[in-house]
Amino acid sequence: MGSMAEELDVLIENAKIVDGIKGTFTGSIGIREARVVGVGEVSGDPGTTIDATGLVAMPGFVDSHSHADWSFPWYPRCESAVMQGCTTVVAGQCGGSPGPLGEFIRPPRVLVDEVYERSPFLYHPPSPLLPIGTVNDLLEEKYGWFISWRTMGEYFEFVEGKGISINYAPLVGHGTVRYNVMGEDYKRPSTGEERDAMKGLIRQAMEEGCIGMSAGLDYDPDVFAEKSEIDECVGVLKDFGGIYAPHWRRTGRRREIRIGTGYAEPQEGIVEVLDTSRKTGVRMNIAHLAPGYHTIPPMTPNIGRAIGKATLAPIDEALEEGMEVSFDVIPWECWEPLPYLCSVHFTQWLRLLGSRERLAEWLRVEEFRKRAWEEIESGRLFQRVVINPCLNAHWAENLKILKHGNGDNEDKTLAEVAEKLDKDPWETLCDLIVEDPDSRGAHTDYRGIEEQMKAFFEHPVGTVGLDVSVIDGKWQQRNPPYSIPLPDTYSGYPKFLNRYVRDGDLFTLEEAVQKCAALPAKFHGIEDRGVIRTGAYADIVLVDLPGLKIVGKPEESNDYPEGIRYVLVNGTVVVEDGEHTGARPGKVLTRKG
Ligand SMILES: [Zn+2]
Repeated sequence: MGSMAEELDVLIENAKIVDGIKGTFTGSIGIREARVVGVGEVSGDPGTTIDATGLVAMPGFVDSHSHADWSFPWYPRCESAVMQGCTTVVAGQCGGSPGPLGEFIRPPRVLVDEVYERSPFLYHPPSPLLPIGTVNDLLEEKYGWFISWRTMGEYFEFVEGKGISINYAPLVGHGTVRYNVMGEDYKRPSTGEERDAMKGLIRQAMEEGCIGMSAGLDYDPDVFAEKSEIDECVGVLKDFGGIYAPHWRRTGRRREIRIGTGYAEPQEGIVEVLDTSRKTGVRMNIAHLAPGYHTIPPMTPNIGRAIGKATLAPIDEALEEGMEVSFDVIPWECWEPLPYLCSVHFTQWLRLLGSRERLAEWLRVEEFRKRAWEEIESGRLFQRVVINPCLNAHWAENLKILKHGNGDNEDKTLAEVAEKLDKDPWETLCDLIVEDPDSRGAHTDYRGIEEQMKAFFEHPVGTVGLDVSVIDGKWQQRNPPYSIPLPDTYSGYPKFLNRYVRDGDLFTLEEAVQKCAALPAKFHGIEDRGVIRTGAYADIVLVDLPGLKIVGKPEESNDYPEGIRYVLVNGTVVVEDGEHTGARPGKVLTRKG
């Protein structure tokens, strides 16, 4: 204890501190000018004192995989992230970043309804792109302002000028760069000249402070890029010590997946990105690792473990070679709120008929039901493999009924209800919608995926990544499929901490802090964050671990979790006693050097 009272901005007292370095101990944390100035026994003259009795102090969570960057302008308070303890996001993932923008851009998600209503479509929009002028007209009409930035550097200035509540470690998206260079004519291999232009833009984005580049190898436009183009572009990162963050190829282009369509084993996609990293010598964080193999037989824990191990094998090999490779994993598996039971298998009909009630009326008609099935078989509308009746023999096991007019059907899978009624799953789905057009559901791969998830999380280079944007608790798409945010948006970290630490036996709290904060910061080269120590930035979360709770049905809850008591970002209190203070102390964490 110092004899001279040191001036402190904040003093956190009586906390159980898990610092991400030494372990767990009880004590105080002193904070001055955005940084930690003392940990353990700290005394001083604080502006603010927080009594953390009964709370665990951890480094603020560093989300390895985020899409927050494209939502900061509309949700600068970043409620959904910071209210669950996240203080830093590595954003710009899956090939998409807010710059560098060209003549044609992908409209931000906040305009999804306006874009659809301006030019309706049945299956997929004719182009994912709009002229930036059109996007700006829509933005001006809805929000009273428009996109003024073009480069990543200009975007950083915009974001810092506006002020955000969490820190933003920026990636440039290869897809954004490809759109910038090729415009609407992107469904083909690039020319040498176009590649040079892309490399120039990537170089510029890195010079402006990006920490690396992402790619989205299942999505437009990256799905049309030859591997040599990706390799060349990734090669640019080498000079900057940047990181490559690929959404690896699992399905290929997600269109026209007819019944009987074969698909590559996803594992080839992991081997593909490892090859890029190996060839270019650029370090890599593989986005949202998932099982590398499909299974036709019923899943058992043993098969799950075997698939987990086999998926990881080439990554282990790369690590043995000395390559710098890591990956992130999404806590909520592939849960997705539909949110209505009719949302995804009948989206085009909902668009055409105009309401869920009309769809339900037509589903009584045998001819229509048959036609709806033929549409499924045609694969015209993209359906995720887990719930695609054309591709997945287990699709009905992956669809869960959350709310239905007949309560007996709730919290059961479609397969369970079908078995109870002794009916075919497709007929059962139609009947359930006829009975209650507003019935709600969610989907995931429920089939023993837990064992694989554990294998991924337990791996020394596995970290937590949420794969969501930031948002407040209100948004829902007006038009079919009436989307609502993914569960990880609000409760990815609470789910991880409850399932694997508090109520499980997979991780100690110290290990969880490695997965949620220390390792993501380390792998992405984010200095002085992800740990609590003297000199580090004061990004800190105080959690009431026994009281940590997801509010409502987790699959469709857009409530903030309970138990995240305080969150500090750069020494400023952003969450106080479970409420957002409105403070926006976040920084753009540009590349150093
Ligand atoms: Zn992705």
